[in-house]
Amino acid sequence: MRTPLIAGNWKMNTESSSAVALARDIAQRAAEATDVELLVCPPSIYLTLVRDALGKAAVGLGAQNMSCQPKGAFTGEISAAMLTDIGAQYVILGHSERRHVFGETDENVNGKTHAALAAGLTPIVCVGELLEDRETGRTAEVIRSQFDGSLAGVTAEQIESVVLAYEPVWAIGTGKVATPEQAEEVHADLRKQLTERYNGELAEKIRILYGGSVKPDNAAELLGQANVDGALIGGASLKVEDFMGIALAGEAVGQA
Ligand code: PEP
Repeated sequence: MRTPLIAGNWKMNTESSSAVALARDIAQRAAEATDVELLVCPPSIYLTLVRDALGKAAVGLGAQNMSCQPKGAFTGEISAAMLTDIGAQYVILGHSERRHVFGETDENVNGKTHAALAAGLTPIVCVGELLEDRETGRTAEVIRSQFDGSLAGVTAEQIESVVLAYEPVWAIGTGKVATPEQAEEVHADLRKQLTERYNGELAEKIRILYGGSVKPDNAAELLGQANVDGALIGGASLKVEDFMGIALAGEAVGQA
């Protein structure tokens, strides 16, 4: 019942010409994967170029970050309204690089989540533990606390418009992928938290993506887990073959 979401986080990569070329290539092949939803999140400066290059193809457009403020004297920031204005539907919030390189807290992520929801954007709210958290047996505790903090005050009505992403920090850009069992354990616990906070029916509707070194050759096993509803992909989203390979793996798993 949950359509898998295959989301590419291009991070601070591409130039205008390569962003357009990649978007065109993905648009051209999008029809191959009809049972999954495709999404690309280019650098914000290329959002409109990518939007135009995608044309009418069934590929969503998302940003990688935004401000929690609606407007005003916030130099260098981009608001939720600006993102909806140029046609973005999604925004990644609390990505591990935002949390650990730029010092974003759960409180910051929470403010952005509320701003995104108020503007009609779908936030992809990321959570994930550090290697030392996993090695000291604190994974569940860390994820629960990020879940509580990042989603504080989000109502039952609003949660339906939220996508969650579990991205173990030690697996992002490292080539070290979580095992399907490790991913499923955290995803199942996230769904349990959704059930506890909201209710079981709502929890079943929310998509929980896995992110962290997803590649075409490991995608099927990860996406085949009961509570893994898609992938948030960094490196492999920059090559159309890899991105579509993951999407097609998701499609095959869904049809199996
Ligand atoms: C990410 O940027 O969210 C990510 C998961 O990166 P990678 O796929 O490169 O590990």
